[in-house]
Amino acid sequence: MSLAPATAVALGDRFARELPELALEWRAEEAPSPTLLALNEPLAAGLGLDPASLRTDEGVRLLVGNHLPEGARPVAQAYAGHQFGGFSPRLGDGRALLLGELTAADGTLRDLHLKGSGRTPFARGGDGLAAVGPMLREYVVSEAMHGLGIPTTRSLAVVATGRPVRRETVLPGAVLARVASSHLRVGSFQYAAAQGDADLLRRLADHAIARHHPGAADAESPYRALFEAVVAAQASLVAQWMLVGFVHGVMNTDNMTISGETIDYGPCAFLEAFDPATVFSSIDETGRYAYGNQPLVAEWNLARLAEALLPLIHDDQEQAVALAVESLGTFRPAYSEAWSHGMRAKLGLPDGLAEEVATPLIGDVVELMKADRVDHTGFFRALGRAARGDVAPARDQVLDLAGFDAWVERWRALGPDAERMDRANPVYVARNHLVEEALVAGTDGDLVPLQRLLEALSAPYDERPGLERYAEPAPEDFGHYTTYCGT
Ligand code: AMP
Ligand code: MG
Repeated sequence: MSLAPATAVALGDRFARELPELALEWRAEEAPSPTLLALNEPLAAGLGLDPASLRTDEGVRLLVGNHLPEGARPVAQAYAGHQFGGFSPRLGDGRALLLGELTAADGTLRDLHLKGSGRTPFARGGDGLAAVGPMLREYVVSEAMHGLGIPTTRSLAVVATGRPVRRETVLPGAVLARVASSHLRVGSFQYAAAQGDADLLRRLADHAIARHHPGAADAESPYRALFEAVVAAQASLVAQWMLVGFVHGVMNTDNMTISGETIDYGPCAFLEAFDPATVFSSIDETGRYAYGNQPLVAEWNLARLAEALLPLIHDDQEQAVALAVESLGTFRPAYSEAWSHGMRAKLGLPDGLAEEVATPLIGDVVELMKADRVDHTGFFRALGRAARGDVAPARDQVLDLAGFDAWVERWRALGPDAERMDRANPVYVARNHLVEEALVAGTDGDLVPLQRLLEALSAPYDERPGLERYAEPAPEDFGHYTTYCGT
């Protein structure tokens, strides 16, 4: 494949053309002295962009929105959202812009989007900016998710702007260039519904079907099929989060995609000690978005999507509600199925193992992990060694030795497949202390820890010599980690 100079790339404007009511033309603020901190070369190349040209002055200016390829029409997107349960009819991109759409190798569109590119009319009280630390954090964690094989937006680059950002202290500013299969959110539909504009809502749904769930177009009831496709995608996504111990941290409806990709990495983190009540975000005082609540919250958010779609589901409101409720009912079985399937893989259970055997075996190990607050990632990976006969690494992590031994005996009698386990249980996740270390160094201009961490996380299932420290839990003195909203 030949790579075009990125600065001459053709950026599509399908979103802005088809949904002008949701697209406010806007320009990025001028960055005083843009400096490239991180560039995702494989991602660039996969999009047909020449990485070398992204490193030139013009390329770096493209990545902060200050150089626009011909024909580009950046827009701030309008959306609404329930934030911690309270509805805001107008949120929108307060500090972000959609530069336009690229065409990926498979012919599908990818949004090229900037975060931290300056105030837009949606900014309300915010300054429209982002600091280096939180943008590097999104870069690392989203790439870690991609490495794990979990659907996610991707990070193309982080560029320091040279503009200071005022937070609790003054911090260096940055722009993240993000790539997503789209930025359509539950909140996009809530916005269209709140406008009371039936035509807009229908065009938005048609756009979503065409881009993400084309099969719905052929269904008897395409908009209901769209809803069910989103339910299925989110059930699968959240199950995958749960299986790796990921806590999103701010599952507001504006942070839930229609595509089924993870989006908006703010106060997110991976579990260490296994506890469903775990919360990392400083602003989540009630634990609404705790690890163990995520499936329920996803279902709640999908109910909000269903409400927005009601006028498209049936002309008769009562019938529309009945149909939407029935469709929402597919969430729980889909989630359970995805989670159980994933747990079977994590435990290396043989295909076709009877439900009556698998379910209690899975339930019991989860109880054991909870009771002893074992390290989520480390324990599962150590079970892979137990499947090979080396029980000590897992046994050393528990307190209830008798309970553990009894469980292991039942489990090993089933002949768990250690290879399968190693493909399901990562060695390396974006542990909080490692992320923190990389961000602190990166903010000070030392990008080596970040690059090393990204390298480990790019192949998280392959244990490699020399990377031992990336598999270790945080040192005792690291304490409980708190993340602050990425603003
Ligand atoms: P988030 O919590 O990042 O999903 O953002 C929620 C809303 O707040 C969105 O409308 C953002 O555009 C807006 N927002 C967040 N931070 C800022 C900021 N520094 N300046 C302007 N708007 C912001
Ligand atoms: Mg958001």
